[in-house]
Amino acid sequence: MGIVLGIDLGTSNSCMAMVDAATGQARVLPNREGERTTPSVVAFDASGRVTVGSAARRQAVLHPRNTVYGVKRLIGRRFSDPAVQRLMKLLPYEVVADPSGNAAVRVHGQVMTPAEVSSHVLRYLKECAEAQLGQSVEGAVITVPAYFDEVQRQETKLAGQRAGLTVHRLLNEPTAAMLSCRFDESRPENIAVFDLGGGTFDISLLHVEEEVVQVLATCGDNFLGGDNVDELVVEALRRIFLKQTGVDLTNNPEALWRLREAAESTKRTLSERDQTSIELAYLVALQEGPLHLSIPSFSRTLLENLVAKELERLRAPCEQALEDAGLTVADIHRVILVGGMTRMPAVRARAEAYLGHPGERSVNPDEAVAIGAALEADIVAGISPETPKVLLLDVLSRSLGIRTEGGRFSVLIPRNTTIPTRETKVFTTTFDQQTHVDIEVYQGEAPTVDGNRYLGELQLAGLTAAAAGTVRVAVDFTIDADGILQVTARDPTTGRKAEATLRPPTATSP
Ligand code: AMP
Repeated sequence: MGIVLGIDLGTSNSCMAMVDAATGQARVLPNREGERTTPSVVAFDASGRVTVGSAARRQAVLHPRNTVYGVKRLIGRRFSDPAVQRLMKLLPYEVVADPSGNAAVRVHGQVMTPAEVSSHVLRYLKECAEAQLGQSVEGAVITVPAYFDEVQRQETKLAGQRAGLTVHRLLNEPTAAMLSCRFDESRPENIAVFDLGGGTFDISLLHVEEEVVQVLATCGDNFLGGDNVDELVVEALRRIFLKQTGVDLTNNPEALWRLREAAESTKRTLSERDQTSIELAYLVALQEGPLHLSIPSFSRTLLENLVAKELERLRAPCEQALEDAGLTVADIHRVILVGGMTRMPAVRARAEAYLGHPGERSVNPDEAVAIGAALEADIVAGISPETPKVLLLDVLSRSLGIRTEGGRFSVLIPRNTTIPTRETKVFTTTFDQQTHVDIEVYQGEAPTVDGNRYLGELQLAGLTAAAAGTVRVAVDFTIDADGILQVTARDPTTGRKAEATLRPPTATSP
């Protein structure tokens, strides 16, 4: 097998790593510009040329509508999803529905799926790795938030395949982060991985004993991250500018982009200092002359007050994960902080408040996930015999089931079940002379299907016509190590079968 990379495909930044066959150590591979992480930003010019990473980010101020960032927040989501509707109001590029009703982006009149956009980031990383290694990269282990559902996982896999990579495994980010840490194999430990990145929050509780890592529970929020903090700061800056000059920047994407850059850098500075200043010269050009934004003092306290309510949203997933794992704060031995946002003091304070331990800072929060993915890639590819063969037991992030009578949701596999797994449940026909059944598959925790995510459906025809309740249909769900679902429906009497690997929803889905 050729080279298999570990890739952390992040909302804001991506990072790649590989294990050196000689040393058995994982190391980060820098990109073409020498950076250890690559902004997950893709710019498209009118001639179809694609630019990725810092170069794309640098030119974004001039072409905000053609520069796509944070697309991980859209991947595998319906356009009608309220979270997408909220998010698109804040994005300078255009978000549209693709022909299937999924969220997509439109640049230069061309509609692209989030997977297509992500594939450019992955291809760029692959090419950078190949250029420095002088060898071709065959595949990758790509990480995803533990909280990603089926569709989001499938779309991420598709992005990898489009980039010319064999995706050997999708690995949950917290599991990857955990693998990057040293742990004492002689002592069983419960470890919390608190991961707050640009767009998502994940909290996972793992149990490590000898060479088995078992995910006990995972919870999170796909719409909580550094971007939310930046948006609140942008909004504050917009209001200050309106007050200072009377000019509203709401419909000025170029100026909003500059505010966003300033907000993000202010946030970073305030992780190290108590206060900073913001100066944005020539923010808008009016006929009477240019207008500048000048804020001589912007304090950490002000930032913390602005975002306190948003950071409070970190609490519920932590409590839920503890409850699902059957643990209390007293049972946790270590807390590992991952994701750039855990550099913010207010975030670290929350992690400690909700999990009872100060977070460990021995791992680099930007690189831990890619390093863990590289270690897993090494196991998959069987490159260095020294790599300890850790057995990973991951869990399903959300319950899987089917629609039954009256739109009720019948769960086949509850959330936090260890995967890979398989479950069969027998259903009966609901009306007389019924010769086919439609198996509609959903994912979520609501008692009725309306509140859950539609994943797809399959039909089993050719049933024996008989009275309602007398013909049986066995529905089988099999989930592989990537969390990808294969559904089979079988008539046990005739042996007739229908099966499907579920694909993202089509236009017919609600
Ligand atoms: P990630 O998705 O893990 O790359 O995290 C990216 C997020 O972390 C972005 O929102 C960054 O603005 C944020 N971030 C990176 N460094 C810092 C820092 N020193 N202080 C606060 N936030 C940071």
